[in-house]
Amino acid sequence: MLRLLCETSNSAFIYYNYQDDRVETIANWEHFFDFQVSHIGELDKLYERVEEQYVLPLKEGLFIEKQNRERQTFEIKLKERALCVEVEVNIVYDEQGRPTDKIIRFKDITRMMAQKDELTYMAYYDILTGLYNRNYFVRLLGEFLRRAETEHCKVAVMFLDIDDFRRVNDGIGIIAGDDLVQLFGQYLTNLMSSNVIISHFSTDIYCIGIYDPCGARSVETIYRVIRERLQQPFKMTDGQEVKMTVSVGVSEYPEAAVGTLELINCAEIVMFKAKSQGKDAIQYFESTILDDFLQTVTIQTKLKEVVFEQNFTMYFQPQCFAEDKKLRGVEALIRWKDEQGDMISPAVFIPIAEKNGAIVPIGNWVVEKSVQIYADWRKKYAYPLILSLNISAVQCKQDCFIDSVLRILERYGVSPQEIELEITETILVEDFEETKKRLSDLRKTGIRISLDDFGTGFSSLSYLKGLPIDTLKIDKSFVDTLLTDMNTQIITESIIYMVKRLGYETIAEGVETEEQFTYLRELSCDIIQGYYTGRPMPADGVEKLLKELTEKG
Ligand code: C2E
Ligand code: CA
Ligand code: CA
Repeated sequence: MLRLLCETSNSAFIYYNYQDDRVETIANWEHFFDFQVSHIGELDKLYERVEEQYVLPLKEGLFIEKQNRERQTFEIKLKERALCVEVEVNIVYDEQGRPTDKIIRFKDITRMMAQKDELTYMAYYDILTGLYNRNYFVRLLGEFLRRAETEHCKVAVMFLDIDDFRRVNDGIGIIAGDDLVQLFGQYLTNLMSSNVIISHFSTDIYCIGIYDPCGARSVETIYRVIRERLQQPFKMTDGQEVKMTVSVGVSEYPEAAVGTLELINCAEIVMFKAKSQGKDAIQYFESTILDDFLQTVTIQTKLKEVVFEQNFTMYFQPQCFAEDKKLRGVEALIRWKDEQGDMISPAVFIPIAEKNGAIVPIGNWVVEKSVQIYADWRKKYAYPLILSLNISAVQCKQDCFIDSVLRILERYGVSPQEIELEITETILVEDFEETKKRLSDLRKTGIRISLDDFGTGFSSLSYLKGLPIDTLKIDKSFVDTLLTDMNTQIITESIIYMVKRLGYETIAEGVETEEQFTYLRELSCDIIQGYYTGRPMPADGVEKLLKELTEKG
């Protein structure tokens, strides 16, 4: 019975008895080794069979009795047969602490290791094509962007979509359809290099990221190479020959967008344009394309208010007092989910919505929705909180703007003192006097005004004097280099000093680290906003915070 157990166990054993100096090999010895061990000195033979780096661990591991140890497990790899082997050494001691028996077990774990490798592989690659999977691609692209920022380079994204894939699929059958996706993907792997990353996003969609596109890795060259390949048919496993075309959208950092997902989104949107213009084409990013895209949204929204609720949602980011990190308020930030459920950044669509007027209905929705959510919090939690709303220049210039905001506040029973409107310097550029008047009218109602992104526009400390504002937001770009750049330190310090003398509050934006936080607090900046004190979150996230705060008393 014991022999049977041993032999079916898939392991091999060496048994050594110290007293009669006897060695025996048991069970599946032949599975691992092509020699026998009849004497303890012959264990040396094992060393020749394992790969270089395992020799030393093996030498030590086999003789743990020298360290009075009872058990040790380690892994080795056999040279010729590439087996992964787990070795377990057990020593039995007598009452005086002398070793009496040694049992060494060899277990084949090659399959297990392969599965582990496969899991790692699956985390990064698309099994079908061997290209990167979407998640990993996004991460790598993010690294490209970070590198590009310091090296002042460009990064291009090519969004490829197989034309009429459904029709192809119906025509040749699903299995051949898979073949096609796979063959094309495998072809694309040839184009990968350290500066060209390629991903299989979904069935018929591929995405290429190019660092510093030029020469052999310019968008034009890569597109040409791909098209040349597509002139030839792909040969399916069932013998059919299939030809296909692709539509490509291209966006470039930093021109189209500076964020990873935004860049991909832009490329995708312009890809649709290539499709609508007859397919088998390439389309480069132009902001007018996004324009048209948004125009459609505006038209839709004119027909149905409901569309807003489906596509837009509000996030809120905490603003905390630097002194004690207590919650001071939240900034409302819009989020747009497209039909596929992907997030499109406001940094992409707000500037365009401003150009084509879509910002007006969008902006109204933002005010109404945020105030509605805020009113709900006020009802449930007795915590003094300021709601900051981003208002674009176009919105603010509308004659009915003030009235419409006040009406919304009244409808939800929110007082103007609880609201802060964030406006940017650009609003002041065109008609300084007119805007000043409008802002002071707003302030007379009790609404607070905050000057957003200070330091990015034509910022000058001198024009701040006499401006009808309550708060000034120091832009993230200052905070970014605060700890490394002397000039930034001096400028930031003087901004905070001046602004305080003028009687305004200061908020630092984009504070990500403890060091930045501490530094700003020491400069007596009043309020901190950024990933360090909290990321933008959905309404229920804020609600959780409020609950904790009010329960604490
Ligand atoms: P903003 O007003 O300067 O908003 C701050 C932006 O910085 C937000 O990006 C926020 O998510 C991000 N941010 C906050 N803390 C950190 C940080 O610590 N690190 C980093 N890297 N980023 C941080 P978001 O939400 O993508 O908004 C981008 C811009 O879009 C806003 O810049 C604002 O100008 C505009 N926007 C957003 N929502 C609205 C809106 O409802 N109406 C209008 N008119 N504009 C909006
Ligand atoms: Ca803002
Ligand atoms: Ca800002």
